[in-house]
Amino acid sequence: MNAEIISVGTELLLGEIVDSNAAFVARELAARGVTLRRKATVGDNLERISGLIEEALTRADLVILGGGLGPTDDDLTRESIAAVAGETPTEDPELLIWLDDLFTSRGRVMAPINRKQTWLIPSAQALPNPLGTAPGWFVTLPPDHEFAGKRIAALPGPPREMTRMFREELLPRLNLPEWAFWAVTLHTAGIGESNVAELLGELTRVANPSVATYARRSGTDVRVAASAATSGEAEHLAAPVLAQVRAALGNYIWAEEKPGDPPATLARAVAALLAGRSLGIVEAGSSGSLAVQFAGESALKGVAISDDHATLLTLGLTPVTLGEAGLGSQAAALELAHGARERFGADMGLSVSAVTQGEAAGQVAVAIVGENLERSALVNWPGDAGQVRERAATAALNLAFR
Ligand code: ATP
Ligand code: MG
Repeated sequence: MNAEIISVGTELLLGEIVDSNAAFVARELAARGVTLRRKATVGDNLERISGLIEEALTRADLVILGGGLGPTDDDLTRESIAAVAGETPTEDPELLIWLDDLFTSRGRVMAPINRKQTWLIPSAQALPNPLGTAPGWFVTLPPDHEFAGKRIAALPGPPREMTRMFREELLPRLNLPEWAFWAVTLHTAGIGESNVAELLGELTRVANPSVATYARRSGTDVRVAASAATSGEAEHLAAPVLAQVRAALGNYIWAEEKPGDPPATLARAVAALLAGRSLGIVEAGSSGSLAVQFAGESALKGVAISDDHATLLTLGLTPVTLGEAGLGSQAAALELAHGARERFGADMGLSVSAVTQGEAAGQVAVAIVGENLERSALVNWPGDAGQVRERAATAALNLAFR
């Protein structure tokens, strides 16, 4: 089933309120295997709303409208759907009794303008709304209609009313087939998204199971997903493709994460790779952005954080390197990594030497040293000091993982 969402309301269009309803509906549809084709936002205008519904019907089996079910003149969702269906709304006697009782029970008298909340058209079923005054509509277009059999649903704007109506009233009426989804995310580091895509080749062009890449700050994520009647079948369907993705990306993968797993972090993957060996860290210019990622990891023996040259000279940096190559050089990072190892009596030393200010801002060197190991890398991305610190930490983790 294909669906489109139309959010109705000038406040939404102008950005005065954020369209959290459409995000909710989109997530819910995806979780049930309904393909969402498009989300649109339109102001409170009858021609534009009905124009958009008609356009959506050319593509989608189900059009879900949100908002515009209030009692005032600018609430035009019912009128717009009626225009598209070519039907005339009339007051529904049952809804009229329900709404009248609702007002009476609240000690109020129903105003005449509220009567339009009791409207229905012949093709519409009312969707009960125990949380508000606006019932929703569930329309199935009749056999003589251009879009016969297609569905239009109208849900109220207030999120509490909308979410309840979506789950309790609309979903059961859609009679969606059994559908389950299975997915795993492979986190990679040390390789850019386009290179990942190259390694995956044809694998990313298949729909079910699907393979998709996402560029994240920590590296490139690859999601392998499949859907079937049960999650076991979906996992089975995904298995051969997952094996191919693992083979293609090999050592670049630092973690595999399933929905519901605690978020995987590169620092945890590095700690696992250390396999019992201890780690010391020296950070120059990154203000602890690297060390903080090892919070709770027992591998970490000690951390020194300083931007002060005199202090860094006590942590392994030599005056020659400081004077000639400067901070932000691989030589400086290597000296600080050795310093970290010695200072904390650790098996491995990891360092960042980053320049966050002045002409060389963005120049970052990272290094890792251990027994028979000495590795360093240079990275340079422009950005503000905060971004440089964060990327410096990621670069150090990438280096440590490689
Ligand atoms: P009402 O009877 O309250 O007028 P309605 O169905 O006409 O309901 P709207 O007038 O469009 O709905 O919206 C009512 C309120 O619900 C808005 O002022 C806003 O606070 C919230 N709302 C509406 N649409 C959305 C949305 N898409 N996302 C989040 N909140 C929304
Ligand atoms: Mg309204």
